[in-house]
Amino acid sequence: MSEYQGRTRSMSAHHVQQLPPRSVAIVLGTRPEIIKLAHVIRLLGPAATVVHTGQHYDRGLSETFFEAFGLGEPDAYLGVGGMTRGGQIGSAVSALDEYLGKHRPRAVVVQGDTNAALAGGIAANARELPLVHVEAGLRSYDRRMPEEHNRVLIDHLGDLLCAPTGVAEKNLLEEGIPDVRIRVTGNTVVEAVRELLPDQSERNSLLTRFGLKSGEFILSTFHRPENVDDPERFAIILTQLAALDLPVILPLHPRSLAKAGENRMTQLLDGIQVIEPIGYREFLGLGAESAFLISDSGGVQEEVSVYKRSVIVVRRSTERPEVLGTFAELVEPGPAISALAQSWSNDVKQLHSRIADEPSPYGDGSASNQIVNEIGALVGGA
Ligand code: UDP
Repeated sequence: MSEYQGRTRSMSAHHVQQLPPRSVAIVLGTRPEIIKLAHVIRLLGPAATVVHTGQHYDRGLSETFFEAFGLGEPDAYLGVGGMTRGGQIGSAVSALDEYLGKHRPRAVVVQGDTNAALAGGIAANARELPLVHVEAGLRSYDRRMPEEHNRVLIDHLGDLLCAPTGVAEKNLLEEGIPDVRIRVTGNTVVEAVRELLPDQSERNSLLTRFGLKSGEFILSTFHRPENVDDPERFAIILTQLAALDLPVILPLHPRSLAKAGENRMTQLLDGIQVIEPIGYREFLGLGAESAFLISDSGGVQEEVSVYKRSVIVVRRSTERPEVLGTFAELVEPGPAISALAQSWSNDVKQLHSRIADEPSPYGDGSASNQIVNEIGALVGGA
Protein backbone atom coordinates (compact mmCIF):
# COMPACT_ATOMS: atom_id res chain seq x y z
CA MET A 1 0.00 0.00 0.00
CA SER A 2 1.34 3.45 -0.81
CA GLU A 3 1.79 5.97 2.01
CA TYR A 4 -0.91 8.05 0.40
CA GLN A 5 -3.55 5.33 0.62
CA GLY A 6 -2.38 4.52 4.12
CA ARG A 7 -3.15 8.03 5.21
CA THR A 8 -6.50 8.17 3.46
CA ARG A 9 -7.76 5.14 5.35
CA SER A 10 -8.15 6.72 8.76
CA MET A 11 -9.30 10.17 7.71
CA SER A 12 -12.38 11.00 9.73
CA ALA A 13 -12.12 14.42 11.31
CA HIS A 14 -14.92 16.79 10.49
CA HIS A 15 -13.47 19.65 8.45
CA VAL A 16 -10.76 17.66 6.78
CA GLN A 17 -12.80 16.16 4.00
CA GLN A 18 -12.86 19.57 2.35
CA LEU A 19 -9.11 20.19 2.47
CA PRO A 20 -7.38 19.89 -0.90
CA PRO A 21 -4.64 17.28 -1.31
CA ARG A 22 -1.22 18.32 -0.01
CA SER A 23 -2.53 21.57 1.44
CA VAL A 24 -1.01 21.21 4.92
CA ALA A 25 2.77 20.85 5.29
CA ILE A 26 3.89 18.98 8.41
CA VAL A 27 7.49 19.79 9.28
CA LEU A 28 9.27 17.41 11.66
CA GLY A 29 12.75 16.13 12.37
CA THR A 30 12.96 13.98 15.50
CA ARG A 31 11.53 10.92 17.21
CA PRO A 32 9.13 12.72 19.57
CA GLU A 33 7.72 14.84 16.73
CA ILE A 34 6.88 11.74 14.68
CA ILE A 35 5.18 10.15 17.71
CA LYS A 36 3.12 13.22 18.54
CA LEU A 37 2.16 14.15 14.96
CA ALA A 38 1.37 10.61 13.78
CA HIS A 39 -2.36 10.83 14.41
CA VAL A 40 -2.61 14.37 13.03
CA ILE A 41 -0.93 13.18 9.82
CA ARG A 42 -3.23 10.18 9.54
CA LEU A 43 -6.36 12.23 10.18
CA LEU A 44 -5.34 14.82 7.61
CA GLY A 45 -5.01 12.01 5.08
CA PRO A 46 -4.16 13.19 1.56
CA ALA A 47 -4.26 16.82 2.76
CA ALA A 48 -0.94 16.29 4.56
CA THR A 49 2.55 16.43 3.12
CA VAL A 50 5.31 15.42 5.52
CA VAL A 51 8.68 17.15 5.35
CA HIS A 52 11.46 15.57 7.42
CA THR A 53 14.37 17.91 8.12
CA GLY A 54 16.74 15.06 8.96
CA GLN A 55 17.63 16.31 12.47
CA HIS A 56 17.44 12.68 13.75
CA TYR A 57 18.86 10.68 10.91
CA ASP A 58 19.43 7.30 12.60
CA ARG A 59 17.06 4.61 11.37
CA GLY A 60 16.30 3.65 15.00
CA LEU A 61 15.21 7.22 15.78
CA SER A 62 13.26 7.94 12.63
CA GLU A 63 12.14 5.32 10.09
CA THR A 64 11.06 2.78 12.69
CA PHE A 65 8.66 5.38 14.11
CA PHE A 66 7.10 6.10 10.72
CA GLU A 67 6.64 2.36 10.31
CA ALA A 68 5.19 1.83 13.80
CA PHE A 69 2.38 4.27 13.04
CA GLY A 70 1.90 3.05 9.45
CA LEU A 71 2.80 6.44 8.01
CA GLY A 72 4.85 5.43 4.99
CA GLU A 73 7.79 7.56 3.90
CA PRO A 74 8.03 11.33 4.37
CA ASP A 75 7.20 13.26 1.17
CA ALA A 76 10.44 15.21 1.36
CA TYR A 77 13.68 14.72 3.25
CA LEU A 78 15.96 17.71 3.72
CA GLY A 79 18.98 15.93 5.24
CA VAL A 80 20.18 18.67 7.58
CA GLY A 81 21.21 16.49 10.55
CA GLY A 82 24.57 16.40 12.27
CA MET A 83 25.43 20.11 12.31
CA THR A 84 25.65 22.80 14.98
CA ARG A 85 22.32 24.17 16.24
CA GLY A 86 22.64 27.33 14.15
CA GLY A 87 23.75 25.31 11.14
CA GLN A 88 20.75 23.00 11.44
CA ILE A 89 18.26 25.82 11.86
CA GLY A 90 19.74 27.92 9.06
CA SER A 91 20.02 25.07 6.57
CA ALA A 92 16.53 23.81 7.37
CA VAL A 93 15.00 27.28 6.99
CA SER A 94 16.66 27.71 3.63
CA ALA A 95 15.61 24.25 2.35
CA LEU A 96 12.07 24.71 3.73
CA ASP A 97 11.79 28.13 2.12
CA GLU A 98 12.43 26.53 -1.24
CA TYR A 99 9.99 23.68 -0.52
CA LEU A 100 7.20 25.97 0.70
CA GLY A 101 7.74 28.40 -2.17
CA LYS A 102 7.36 25.58 -4.66
CA HIS A 103 4.41 23.73 -3.07
CA ARG A 104 2.50 26.66 -1.50
CA PRO A 105 0.60 24.75 1.25
CA ARG A 106 -2.23 26.56 3.03
CA ALA A 107 -0.65 26.01 6.45
CA VAL A 108 2.48 24.67 8.12
CA VAL A 109 2.30 22.48 11.23
CA VAL A 110 5.16 22.03 13.70
CA GLN A 111 5.29 20.26 17.07
CA GLY A 112 7.22 20.90 20.25
CA ASP A 113 10.51 22.65 20.70
CA THR A 114 13.14 21.16 18.40
CA ASN A 115 15.41 22.95 15.93
CA ALA A 116 13.28 21.39 13.16
CA ALA A 117 10.14 22.94 14.65
CA LEU A 118 11.76 26.36 14.94
CA ALA A 119 13.02 26.15 11.35
CA GLY A 120 9.48 25.22 10.22
CA GLY A 121 8.11 28.22 12.10
CA ILE A 122 10.57 30.69 10.63
CA ALA A 123 10.15 29.34 7.11
CA ALA A 124 6.33 29.49 7.34
CA ASN A 125 6.56 33.05 8.61
CA ALA A 126 8.94 34.08 5.84
CA ARG A 127 6.50 32.70 3.25
CA GLU A 128 3.55 34.35 5.06
CA LEU A 129 1.85 30.99 5.60
CA PRO A 130 -0.31 30.31 8.70
CA LEU A 131 1.68 28.46 11.35
CA VAL A 132 0.14 25.82 13.63
CA HIS A 133 2.05 24.90 16.80
CA VAL A 134 1.14 21.56 18.36
CA GLU A 135 2.09 21.38 22.06
CA ALA A 136 2.24 25.15 22.47
CA GLY A 137 2.81 27.04 25.71
CA LEU A 138 5.21 24.72 27.55
CA ARG A 139 7.68 26.70 29.63
CA SER A 140 10.54 25.66 31.90
CA TYR A 141 11.56 29.32 32.39
CA ASP A 142 15.11 27.96 32.17
CA ARG A 143 16.96 30.06 29.61
CA ARG A 144 19.92 27.66 29.65
CA MET A 145 17.84 25.17 27.63
CA PRO A 146 17.96 25.69 23.85
CA GLU A 147 14.48 24.11 23.67
CA GLU A 148 13.06 26.93 25.82
CA HIS A 149 14.17 29.52 23.27
CA ASN A 150 12.79 27.40 20.43
CA ARG A 151 9.34 27.08 22.01
CA VAL A 152 9.03 30.75 22.96
CA LEU A 153 9.95 31.82 19.43
CA ILE A 154 7.56 29.34 17.77
CA ASP A 155 4.66 30.38 20.01
CA HIS A 156 5.14 34.05 19.19
CA LEU A 157 5.25 33.30 15.46
CA GLY A 158 2.29 30.90 15.55
CA ASP A 159 -1.26 31.62 14.31
CA LEU A 160 -2.96 28.59 15.88
CA LEU A 161 -1.45 27.49 19.20
CA CYS A 162 -2.65 24.08 20.39
CA ALA A 163 -1.92 24.11 24.11
CA PRO A 164 -2.06 20.68 25.77
CA THR A 165 -3.26 21.90 29.19
CA GLY A 166 -4.63 24.93 31.01
CA VAL A 167 -1.14 25.51 32.46
CA ALA A 168 0.26 25.90 28.95
CA GLU A 169 -2.62 28.20 27.96
CA LYS A 170 -1.93 30.40 30.98
CA ASN A 171 1.77 30.62 30.08
CA LEU A 172 0.83 31.91 26.63
CA LEU A 173 -1.68 34.46 27.94
CA GLU A 174 0.89 35.74 30.44
CA GLU A 175 3.23 36.49 27.54
CA GLY A 176 0.56 38.66 25.96
CA ILE A 177 -0.48 36.22 23.24
CA PRO A 178 -4.13 36.94 22.38
CA ASP A 179 -6.55 34.16 23.32
CA VAL A 180 -8.01 34.02 19.79
CA ARG A 181 -4.80 32.26 18.74
CA ILE A 182 -4.99 29.63 21.51
CA ARG A 183 -6.94 26.35 21.80
CA VAL A 184 -6.61 23.89 24.69
CA THR A 185 -6.67 20.48 23.01
CA GLY A 186 -4.91 17.98 25.28
CA ASN A 187 -1.69 16.32 24.21
CA THR A 188 -1.54 14.03 21.17
CA VAL A 189 0.80 11.71 23.09
CA VAL A 190 -2.26 10.18 24.78
CA GLU A 191 -3.59 8.69 21.54
CA ALA A 192 -0.07 7.66 20.48
CA VAL A 193 0.39 5.66 23.70
CA ARG A 194 -3.10 4.18 23.57
CA GLU A 195 -2.56 2.96 20.03
CA LEU A 196 0.83 1.34 20.50
CA LEU A 197 0.93 0.17 24.12
CA PRO A 198 1.38 -3.60 23.71
CA ASP A 199 -1.01 -6.11 25.26
CA GLN A 200 0.06 -8.36 28.12
CA SER A 201 1.25 -11.27 25.99
CA GLU A 202 3.49 -8.98 23.88
CA ARG A 203 4.79 -7.41 27.09
CA ASN A 204 5.61 -10.85 28.48
CA SER A 205 7.63 -11.63 25.35
CA LEU A 206 9.48 -8.34 25.75
CA LEU A 207 10.36 -9.19 29.34
CA THR A 208 11.71 -12.56 28.23
CA ARG A 209 13.62 -11.00 25.33
CA PHE A 210 15.41 -8.53 27.60
CA GLY A 211 15.77 -10.93 30.56
CA LEU A 212 13.64 -8.79 32.89
CA LYS A 213 10.94 -9.46 35.50
CA SER A 214 7.73 -7.47 35.71
CA GLY A 215 7.95 -4.67 38.31
CA GLU A 216 11.57 -5.55 39.14
CA PHE A 217 13.60 -3.27 36.91
CA ILE A 218 14.06 0.40 36.09
CA LEU A 219 13.78 1.79 32.53
CA SER A 220 16.02 4.75 31.87
CA THR A 221 16.87 7.21 29.09
CA PHE A 222 19.31 10.13 28.96
CA HIS A 223 20.06 12.48 26.11
CA ARG A 224 19.68 16.15 27.15
CA PRO A 225 22.78 18.29 26.58
CA GLU A 226 22.62 19.58 30.18
CA ASN A 227 23.26 16.00 31.37
CA VAL A 228 25.29 14.19 28.73
CA ASP A 229 27.46 17.04 27.39
CA ASP A 230 28.82 17.77 30.87
CA PRO A 231 31.17 14.84 31.67
CA GLU A 232 30.93 15.43 35.41
CA ARG A 233 27.12 15.37 35.46
CA PHE A 234 26.94 12.42 33.09
CA ALA A 235 29.45 10.44 35.22
CA ILE A 236 27.41 11.13 38.37
CA ILE A 237 24.21 9.95 36.66
CA LEU A 238 25.76 6.73 35.32
CA THR A 239 27.40 5.97 38.69
CA GLN A 240 24.07 6.49 40.47
CA LEU A 241 22.22 4.22 38.02
CA ALA A 242 24.83 1.45 38.29
CA ALA A 243 24.63 1.46 42.12
CA LEU A 244 20.86 0.87 42.35
CA ASP A 245 19.47 -2.39 43.77
CA LEU A 246 17.06 -2.97 40.90
CA PRO A 247 18.60 -3.65 37.47
CA VAL A 248 18.56 -0.66 35.11
CA ILE A 249 17.95 -1.04 31.37
CA LEU A 250 19.12 1.98 29.36
CA PRO A 251 18.30 2.26 25.64
CA LEU A 252 21.03 4.76 24.96
CA HIS A 253 20.50 7.62 22.54
CA PRO A 254 23.35 7.68 19.96
CA ARG A 255 24.18 11.22 21.08
CA SER A 256 24.72 10.02 24.67
CA LEU A 257 26.76 7.00 23.60
CA ALA A 258 29.02 9.27 21.54
CA LYS A 259 29.48 11.60 24.52
CA ALA A 260 30.35 8.67 26.82
CA GLY A 261 32.96 7.55 24.26
CA GLU A 262 34.43 11.05 23.75
CA ASN A 263 34.82 11.53 27.50
CA ARG A 264 36.32 8.06 28.08
CA MET A 265 33.60 6.97 30.45
CA THR A 266 32.28 3.84 28.72
CA GLN A 267 33.43 1.74 31.71
CA LEU A 268 30.76 3.53 33.74
CA LEU A 269 28.18 1.78 31.57
CA ASP A 270 29.31 -1.63 32.83
CA GLY A 271 26.84 -1.91 35.72
CA ILE A 272 23.89 -0.97 33.50
CA GLN A 273 22.08 -2.99 30.81
CA VAL A 274 22.83 -0.68 27.89
CA ILE A 275 20.94 -1.40 24.66
CA GLU A 276 20.37 0.44 21.38
CA PRO A 277 17.31 2.70 21.17
CA ILE A 278 14.22 0.52 20.85
CA GLY A 279 10.96 0.96 18.94
CA TYR A 280 8.01 2.80 20.44
CA ARG A 281 5.93 -0.32 21.15
CA GLU A 282 8.89 -1.91 22.92
CA PHE A 283 9.62 1.22 24.93
CA LEU A 284 6.01 1.61 26.06
CA GLY A 285 5.76 -2.10 26.88
CA LEU A 286 8.90 -2.03 29.01
CA GLY A 287 7.84 1.24 30.67
CA ALA A 288 4.47 -0.22 31.64
CA GLU A 289 6.15 -3.34 33.07
CA SER A 290 8.89 -1.44 34.92
CA ALA A 291 9.00 -0.66 38.63
CA PHE A 292 9.54 2.96 37.58
CA LEU A 293 11.60 5.08 35.16
CA ILE A 294 14.54 7.45 35.50
CA SER A 295 14.90 9.85 32.58
CA ASP A 296 15.55 13.35 31.30
CA SER A 297 13.08 12.97 28.43
CA GLY A 298 10.17 15.34 27.95
CA GLY A 299 7.80 12.86 26.32
CA VAL A 300 8.40 10.14 28.91
CA GLN A 301 7.02 12.45 31.62
CA GLU A 302 3.73 12.59 29.73
CA GLU A 303 3.56 8.95 28.67
CA VAL A 304 3.90 7.59 32.21
CA SER A 305 0.69 9.42 33.11
CA VAL A 306 -1.14 7.34 30.49
CA TYR A 307 0.25 3.90 31.42
CA LYS A 308 0.43 4.80 35.14
CA ARG A 309 4.05 4.58 36.20
CA SER A 310 6.28 7.08 38.01
CA VAL A 311 9.42 8.73 36.67
CA ILE A 312 12.37 10.36 38.39
CA VAL A 313 13.14 13.32 36.15
CA VAL A 314 16.85 14.15 36.34
CA ARG A 315 17.07 17.76 35.21
CA ARG A 316 17.48 21.30 36.46
CA SER A 317 13.96 22.23 35.46
CA THR A 318 10.87 20.89 33.72
CA GLU A 319 8.35 22.41 31.34
CA ARG A 320 5.81 19.79 32.43
CA PRO A 321 4.79 20.80 35.98
CA GLU A 322 1.38 19.11 35.52
CA VAL A 323 2.82 15.71 36.48
CA LEU A 324 5.02 16.77 39.41
CA GLY A 325 3.93 15.25 42.71
CA THR A 326 1.89 12.52 41.01
CA PHE A 327 3.66 10.77 38.13
CA ALA A 328 7.00 12.59 38.32
CA GLU A 329 9.58 13.96 40.75
CA LEU A 330 12.32 16.34 39.68
CA VAL A 331 15.86 15.79 41.05
CA GLU A 332 19.32 17.15 40.26
CA PRO A 333 22.06 14.64 39.38
CA GLY A 334 23.62 13.35 42.62
CA PRO A 335 22.71 11.20 45.62
CA ALA A 336 19.10 12.42 45.38
CA ILE A 337 18.65 9.97 42.48
CA SER A 338 19.55 6.87 44.50
CA ALA A 339 17.79 8.14 47.64
CA LEU A 340 14.47 8.53 45.79
CA ALA A 341 14.94 5.36 43.73
CA GLN A 342 15.67 3.40 46.90
CA SER A 343 12.58 4.66 48.67
CA TRP A 344 10.42 3.83 45.62
CA SER A 345 12.02 0.35 45.28
CA ASN A 346 11.18 -0.45 48.90
CA ASP A 347 7.48 -0.65 48.09
CA VAL A 348 6.84 -0.90 44.37
CA LYS A 349 3.27 -2.15 44.84
CA GLN A 350 2.37 0.90 46.88
CA LEU A 351 4.12 3.16 44.34
CA HIS A 352 1.94 1.68 41.59
CA SER A 353 -1.34 1.70 43.50
CA ARG A 354 -0.88 5.33 44.56
CA ILE A 355 -1.22 6.51 40.94
CA ALA A 356 -3.29 3.71 39.41
CA ASP A 357 -6.45 5.84 39.33
CA GLU A 358 -4.80 9.24 38.89
CA PRO A 359 -6.08 10.77 35.62
CA SER A 360 -3.58 11.98 33.03
CA PRO A 361 -3.47 15.78 32.85
CA TYR A 362 -2.95 15.48 29.09
CA GLY A 363 -6.51 14.80 28.05
CA ASP A 364 -8.72 12.01 26.81
CA GLY A 365 -7.07 10.99 23.54
CA SER A 366 -9.02 13.40 21.33
CA ALA A 367 -6.28 16.04 20.89
CA SER A 368 -5.33 15.05 17.32
CA ASN A 369 -8.96 15.14 16.24
CA GLN A 370 -9.48 18.56 17.79
CA ILE A 371 -6.26 19.89 16.24
CA VAL A 372 -7.17 18.65 12.77
CA ASN A 373 -10.62 20.23 13.04
CA GLU A 374 -8.99 23.51 14.08
CA ILE A 375 -6.62 23.31 11.11
CA GLY A 376 -9.63 22.72 8.86
CA ALA A 377 -11.36 25.78 10.30
CA LEU A 378 -8.16 27.85 9.92
CA VAL A 379 -7.44 27.11 6.30
CA GLY A 380 -10.92 26.41 4.98
CA GLY A 381 -12.23 24.05 2.32
CA ALA A 382 -11.42 23.46 -1.34
N1 UDP B 1 11.59 6.32 23.13
C1 UDP B 1 11.54 5.20 22.31
N2 UDP B 1 12.60 4.33 22.33
C2 UDP B 1 13.69 4.53 23.11
C3 UDP B 1 13.73 5.67 23.95
C4 UDP B 1 12.66 6.56 23.92
O1 UDP B 1 10.57 4.99 21.60
O2 UDP B 1 14.61 3.71 23.07
C5 UDP B 1 10.48 7.30 23.04
C6 UDP B 1 9.86 7.68 24.36
O3 UDP B 1 8.78 6.85 24.67
C7 UDP B 1 9.41 9.11 24.12
C8 UDP B 1 10.37 9.62 23.10
O4 UDP B 1 11.01 8.49 22.54
O5 UDP B 1 8.15 9.15 23.51
C9 UDP B 1 11.33 10.52 23.80
O6 UDP B 1 12.21 10.99 22.93
P1 UDP B 1 13.40 11.91 23.41
O7 UDP B 1 13.74 11.56 24.82
O8 UDP B 1 14.42 11.79 22.35
O9 UDP B 1 12.80 13.37 23.30
P2 UDP B 1 12.02 14.30 24.30
O10 UDP B 1 10.74 13.63 24.66
O11 UDP B 1 12.90 14.55 25.46
O12 UDP B 1 11.77 15.54 23.51
